[in-house]
Amino acid sequence: MSDARESSATRLVLLGAPGAGKGTQASLLEQRLDLCALSTGDLLRGLQEASGSRLSEAEREALDHMRRGELVPDGTVVALVAEQVDCLHHPRGFLLDGFPRTLAQARALDELLRVGGLGLDAVLSYELPLEAIVARLGGRRTCFACRAIYHVETRPPRRSGVCDRCGGALGQRDDDRPEAVRTRMQTYERETAPLATYYQEQGLLCPVPAHGTPEEIFERSLVRLEALRGARSSSVGD
Ligand code: AMP
Repeated sequence: MSDARESSATRLVLLGAPGAGKGTQASLLEQRLDLCALSTGDLLRGLQEASGSRLSEAEREALDHMRRGELVPDGTVVALVAEQVDCLHHPRGFLLDGFPRTLAQARALDELLRVGGLGLDAVLSYELPLEAIVARLGGRRTCFACRAIYHVETRPPRRSGVCDRCGGALGQRDDDRPEAVRTRMQTYERETAPLATYYQEQGLLCPVPAHGTPEEIFERSLVRLEALRGARSSSVGD
């Protein structure tokens, strides 16, 4: 075990199909454990808000992939994450939401952490049946200003179309529309699902059933995380 893992920082990767509730759990884990949260989806959406002329060719191309619900090329995403040095070295630790999404990205992350003398503690993998995922994504609404997440049935805002947190306008992300959702699910199965085996083999995988309320799933995440840490420390003690 690396020194980095023995420090008080918690360094997590969140895995899960689109709609499994990763984003909501990321924000709970960020607030309650005081971690630096890094979402490659948010970083990419941030580029979208930059003025067109300031974008590089690679960034413009990345946004076209994103609108179609396809993965952005590995090199572009890895470069975006590598720029976030302060977050990766945050004294309380970090959580990566939506990265890595391919084996090449996972290997690039390993290298980035190795060079920085850091190690991962766990990979929380949120698991939910396909039909539940489709229902969640169809009703999901996102605040265009602060990115808070709602659902038309299970988590409606107090005023329809208005964010409770910041008063911003709520809407459906382009890639939550049915055509893009189908592409995202197929891409997830093909490119991202194999990461579970990759991290299982490293003893880092922590599967979390993603049914129930966000609070229930959050509590379950902490219990699973502690169980993994306990199992790891007892195996080190053996
Ligand atoms: P998310 O908000 O994590 O669902 O990401 C939204 C979209 O951004 C995805 O559908 C991809 O087009 C792109 N994206 C986000 N993270 C990655 C990544 N790690 N690799 C490739 N594309 C990504």
